[in-house]
Amino acid sequence: MKDEMHLTHLATGDLLRAAVAAGTPLGLEARRFMDAGELVPDEVVIGMIRERLDAGAEDFLLDGFPRTIAQAEALDDMLSDLGAPLDAVLLLSVSRAELVRRLAGRWLCRTCGRSWHEVSNPHRRDEDCLETGKDCDLYQRDDDRAETVANRLDVYDAQTAPLVGYYRERGLLRELDGERSLEDVYAQIEATVAPGR
Ligand SMILES: [Zn+2]
Repeated sequence: MKDEMHLTHLATGDLLRAAVAAGTPLGLEARRFMDAGELVPDEVVIGMIRERLDAGAEDFLLDGFPRTIAQAEALDDMLSDLGAPLDAVLLLSVSRAELVRRLAGRWLCRTCGRSWHEVSNPHRRDEDCLETGKDCDLYQRDDDRAETVANRLDVYDAQTAPLVGYYRERGLLRELDGERSLEDVYAQIEATVAPGR
């Protein structure tokens, strides 16, 4: 998918969920971890990203990767092989209380992939599915349920938070205020990754 910033959006969560839905061996392995709110093992995610990056050299935005220091080091190696170093790393700062509120209220459409939120962006009855033109097929992801959200945040603190220091030391970290509105956060991202476009 390309957005107005002319970046290919590579979301590991989407790639993994597609593998789960297709029932591939990788998907079946990944599913056990995702349902429990745990991180999918590094070698599975790294292999998937390497496959995707090797396929083309367009400008991309990685979403949901890297999530551990080991993944960040593997990414450095991959990008160095490709001669395409990172331009920036975005940190969207959001408090824990706000994260719980947002994740626990999220609903997605199985068919067109759009997401809504019970409070901040509720689904409207008159909104047709982008794929079918009928009602969207809404569901809540297993890992968005309240009890799993708490575990996801603990996993983030233990395994992903160290990346903030890793990228700050390398001069790549750009910190944004993730508690503002959707439009405002988007504008901050755009100004950071595509200034002047
Ligand atoms: Zn839909």
